[in-house]
Amino acid sequence: MDNLIKEMETYAEEKNIPIMQKKGIDFLCKIIEKGEVKNILEIGTAIGYSAIKMANVNETITVTSVERDEERYILALKNIKKAKLDKRINVIFADALNINLEDKYDLIFIDAAKSQYIKFFNKFKENLNPKGIIISDNLSFHGYVEQEERIESRNLRQLVGKIRKYVDFLKDNKEFKTKFYKVGDGIAVSIKED
Ligand code: SAH
Ligand code: MG
Repeated sequence: MDNLIKEMETYAEEKNIPIMQKKGIDFLCKIIEKGEVKNILEIGTAIGYSAIKMANVNETITVTSVERDEERYILALKNIKKAKLDKRINVIFADALNINLEDKYDLIFIDAAKSQYIKFFNKFKENLNPKGIIISDNLSFHGYVEQEERIESRNLRQLVGKIRKYVDFLKDNKEFKTKFYKVGDGIAVSIKED
Protein backbone atom coordinates (compact mmCIF):
# COMPACT_ATOMS: atom_id res chain seq x y z
CA MET A 1 0.00 0.00 0.00
CA ASP A 2 2.75 2.48 0.93
CA ASN A 3 4.41 1.83 -2.42
CA LEU A 4 1.23 2.48 -4.32
CA ILE A 5 0.69 5.74 -2.42
CA LYS A 6 4.25 6.84 -3.21
CA GLU A 7 3.83 5.90 -6.86
CA MET A 8 0.66 7.98 -7.03
CA GLU A 9 2.35 10.96 -5.39
CA THR A 10 5.22 10.80 -7.90
CA TYR A 11 2.87 10.39 -10.86
CA ALA A 12 0.74 13.33 -9.74
CA GLU A 13 3.79 15.52 -9.36
CA GLU A 14 5.16 14.58 -12.80
CA LYS A 15 1.82 15.07 -14.55
CA ASN A 16 0.81 18.13 -12.57
CA ILE A 17 -2.29 16.53 -11.11
CA PRO A 18 -3.43 18.53 -8.08
CA ILE A 19 -3.89 15.76 -5.51
CA MET A 20 -4.21 16.78 -1.89
CA GLN A 21 -1.12 17.90 -0.07
CA LYS A 22 0.13 15.53 2.62
CA LYS A 23 -0.81 17.76 5.54
CA GLY A 24 -4.22 18.37 4.04
CA ILE A 25 -5.03 14.70 3.54
CA ASP A 26 -3.82 13.84 7.06
CA PHE A 27 -6.09 16.55 8.45
CA LEU A 28 -9.03 15.21 6.45
CA CYS A 29 -8.40 11.62 7.59
CA LYS A 30 -8.32 12.74 11.24
CA ILE A 31 -11.75 14.33 10.87
CA ILE A 32 -13.04 11.10 9.31
CA GLU A 33 -11.62 9.07 12.17
CA LYS A 34 -12.81 11.35 14.99
CA GLY A 35 -16.23 11.96 13.46
CA GLU A 36 -16.82 8.23 12.95
CA VAL A 37 -17.63 8.96 9.34
CA LYS A 38 -18.88 5.92 7.43
CA ASN A 39 -19.87 7.00 3.98
CA ILE A 40 -18.19 9.69 1.96
CA LEU A 41 -19.01 11.49 -1.27
CA GLU A 42 -16.05 13.01 -3.07
CA ILE A 43 -16.36 15.49 -5.94
CA GLY A 44 -13.12 15.24 -7.95
CA THR A 45 -11.41 11.83 -7.87
CA ALA A 46 -8.41 12.60 -10.11
CA ILE A 47 -6.35 9.39 -9.91
CA GLY A 48 -7.94 8.10 -6.71
CA TYR A 49 -5.34 9.31 -4.24
CA SER A 50 -7.56 10.97 -1.64
CA ALA A 51 -10.29 8.33 -2.10
CA ILE A 52 -7.80 5.56 -1.27
CA LYS A 53 -6.39 7.50 1.68
CA MET A 54 -9.88 8.13 3.09
CA ALA A 55 -11.01 4.52 2.61
CA ASN A 56 -7.89 3.37 4.42
CA VAL A 57 -8.83 5.16 7.63
CA ASN A 58 -10.79 2.04 8.59
CA GLU A 59 -12.61 -0.91 7.04
CA THR A 60 -16.12 0.37 7.62
CA ILE A 61 -15.73 3.34 5.28
CA THR A 62 -17.21 3.50 1.80
CA VAL A 63 -16.44 6.21 -0.73
CA THR A 64 -18.38 7.35 -3.79
CA SER A 65 -16.28 9.63 -5.95
CA VAL A 66 -17.08 11.55 -9.14
CA GLU A 67 -14.61 12.37 -11.94
CA ARG A 68 -15.33 13.91 -15.34
CA ASP A 69 -11.95 13.37 -17.00
CA GLU A 70 -11.88 9.97 -18.69
CA GLU A 71 -8.14 9.36 -18.53
CA ARG A 72 -8.04 10.14 -14.82
CA TYR A 73 -11.15 8.09 -14.19
CA ILE A 74 -9.53 5.02 -15.80
CA LEU A 75 -6.35 5.55 -13.83
CA ALA A 76 -8.33 5.90 -10.62
CA LEU A 77 -10.06 2.57 -11.26
CA LYS A 78 -6.67 0.91 -11.80
CA ASN A 79 -5.20 2.36 -8.63
CA ILE A 80 -8.25 1.46 -6.56
CA LYS A 81 -8.05 -2.11 -7.82
CA LYS A 82 -4.37 -2.28 -6.97
CA ALA A 83 -5.24 -1.05 -3.48
CA LYS A 84 -7.90 -3.81 -3.27
CA LEU A 85 -10.47 -1.20 -2.42
CA ASP A 86 -12.83 -1.68 -5.35
CA LYS A 87 -15.53 -3.06 -3.04
CA ARG A 88 -15.48 0.08 -0.92
CA ILE A 89 -14.74 2.82 -3.45
CA ASN A 90 -17.17 3.46 -6.27
CA VAL A 91 -16.07 5.92 -8.95
CA ILE A 92 -18.66 7.58 -11.17
CA PHE A 93 -17.49 8.88 -14.55
CA ALA A 94 -19.53 12.06 -14.98
CA ASP A 95 -19.66 15.77 -14.51
CA ALA A 96 -20.85 16.10 -10.93
CA LEU A 97 -23.28 18.84 -11.91
CA ASN A 98 -25.06 16.44 -14.30
CA ILE A 99 -25.82 13.61 -11.91
CA ASN A 100 -28.42 13.03 -9.23
CA LEU A 101 -27.55 10.83 -6.31
CA GLU A 102 -30.10 9.23 -4.02
CA ASP A 103 -27.84 8.20 -1.17
CA LYS A 104 -27.02 10.18 1.94
CA TYR A 105 -23.47 10.71 3.16
CA ASP A 106 -21.82 11.60 6.47
CA LEU A 107 -19.17 13.63 4.71
CA ILE A 108 -18.96 15.38 1.37
CA PHE A 109 -15.51 16.35 0.15
CA ILE A 110 -15.46 19.03 -2.55
CA ASP A 111 -12.17 19.06 -4.48
CA ALA A 112 -13.04 19.79 -8.13
CA ALA A 113 -13.38 22.89 -10.37
CA LYS A 114 -13.01 25.88 -8.05
CA SER A 115 -15.36 28.03 -10.14
CA GLN A 116 -18.24 25.65 -9.38
CA TYR A 117 -17.90 25.29 -5.62
CA ILE A 118 -21.11 27.14 -4.70
CA LYS A 119 -23.04 24.96 -7.15
CA PHE A 120 -21.52 21.74 -5.80
CA PHE A 121 -22.28 22.82 -2.24
CA ASN A 122 -25.91 23.72 -2.88
CA LYS A 123 -26.55 20.63 -4.97
CA PHE A 124 -24.96 18.01 -2.75
CA LYS A 125 -25.98 19.38 0.66
CA GLU A 126 -29.25 17.55 -0.11
CA ASN A 127 -27.28 14.30 0.08
CA LEU A 128 -25.96 15.00 3.55
CA ASN A 129 -27.02 13.09 6.65
CA PRO A 130 -28.16 15.09 9.67
CA LYS A 131 -25.06 16.50 11.35
CA GLY A 132 -23.11 15.81 8.20
CA ILE A 133 -19.93 17.63 7.24
CA ILE A 134 -18.93 19.31 3.99
CA ILE A 135 -15.20 19.82 3.49
CA SER A 136 -13.80 22.02 0.74
CA ASP A 137 -10.19 22.04 -0.46
CA ASN A 138 -7.93 24.68 -2.06
CA LEU A 139 -9.46 27.78 -0.52
CA SER A 140 -6.06 29.39 -0.40
CA PHE A 141 -5.17 28.39 -3.96
CA HIS A 142 -1.40 28.35 -3.56
CA GLY A 143 -1.57 31.49 -1.45
CA TYR A 144 -3.07 33.61 -4.22
CA VAL A 145 -6.32 34.14 -2.34
CA GLU A 146 -4.43 35.93 0.46
CA GLN A 147 -2.03 37.75 -1.87
CA GLU A 148 -3.95 38.96 -4.82
CA GLU A 149 -1.23 41.45 -5.78
CA ARG A 150 0.93 38.50 -6.90
CA ILE A 151 -1.51 37.66 -9.68
CA GLU A 152 -0.64 38.67 -13.20
CA SER A 153 -3.00 36.69 -15.39
CA ARG A 154 -6.63 37.62 -15.87
CA ASN A 155 -7.84 34.01 -15.69
CA LEU A 156 -6.16 33.41 -12.39
CA ARG A 157 -7.57 36.66 -11.01
CA GLN A 158 -11.07 35.52 -11.99
CA LEU A 159 -10.58 32.14 -10.37
CA VAL A 160 -9.33 33.69 -7.17
CA GLY A 161 -12.35 36.01 -7.23
CA LYS A 162 -14.58 32.94 -7.38
CA ILE A 163 -12.82 31.29 -4.46
CA ARG A 164 -13.26 34.51 -2.45
CA LYS A 165 -16.96 34.50 -3.30
CA TYR A 166 -17.22 30.93 -2.09
CA VAL A 167 -15.51 31.83 1.19
CA ASP A 168 -18.03 34.66 1.67
CA PHE A 169 -20.86 32.30 0.76
CA LEU A 170 -19.71 29.90 3.50
CA LYS A 171 -19.27 32.70 6.04
CA ASP A 172 -22.80 33.99 5.36
CA ASN A 173 -24.44 30.56 5.25
CA LYS A 174 -27.00 30.18 8.05
CA GLU A 175 -27.55 26.46 7.54
CA PHE A 176 -23.92 25.52 8.12
CA LYS A 177 -21.24 26.68 10.50
CA THR A 178 -17.87 26.84 8.78
CA LYS A 179 -14.35 26.90 10.15
CA PHE A 180 -11.38 27.72 7.94
CA TYR A 181 -8.03 26.02 8.39
CA LYS A 182 -4.68 27.10 6.97
CA VAL A 183 -3.58 23.54 6.48
CA GLY A 184 -2.46 22.15 3.12
CA ASP A 185 -3.87 24.47 0.47
CA GLY A 186 -6.59 25.88 2.71
CA ILE A 187 -9.48 23.74 3.95
CA ALA A 188 -13.00 24.67 5.09
CA VAL A 189 -15.04 22.42 7.38
CA SER A 190 -18.76 23.17 7.29
CA ILE A 191 -21.06 21.48 9.78
CA LYS A 192 -24.81 21.44 9.41
CA GLU A 193 -26.54 23.30 12.23
CA ASP A 194 -29.32 21.45 14.06
N1 SAH B 1 -9.36 14.65 -4.74
C1 SAH B 1 -8.21 14.32 -5.57
C2 SAH B 1 -7.77 15.48 -6.45
C3 SAH B 1 -8.82 16.02 -7.34
S1 SAH B 1 -8.19 17.17 -8.53
C4 SAH B 1 -7.04 13.95 -4.65
O1 SAH B 1 -6.74 14.71 -3.73
O2 SAH B 1 -6.45 12.90 -4.86
C5 SAH B 1 -9.68 17.77 -9.18
C6 SAH B 1 -10.39 16.82 -10.13
O3 SAH B 1 -11.71 17.24 -10.26
C7 SAH B 1 -9.80 16.81 -11.55
O4 SAH B 1 -9.36 15.52 -11.87
C8 SAH B 1 -10.96 17.26 -12.43
O5 SAH B 1 -11.03 16.55 -13.66
C9 SAH B 1 -12.17 16.94 -11.56
N2 SAH B 1 -13.34 17.78 -11.80
C10 SAH B 1 -13.38 19.12 -11.94
N3 SAH B 1 -14.63 19.55 -12.10
C11 SAH B 1 -15.43 18.45 -12.07
C12 SAH B 1 -16.83 18.23 -12.21
N4 SAH B 1 -17.67 19.25 -12.42
N5 SAH B 1 -17.30 16.97 -12.13
C13 SAH B 1 -16.45 15.93 -11.94
N6 SAH B 1 -15.12 16.07 -11.81
C14 SAH B 1 -14.61 17.31 -11.87
MG1 MG C 1 -7.49 19.96 -3.97
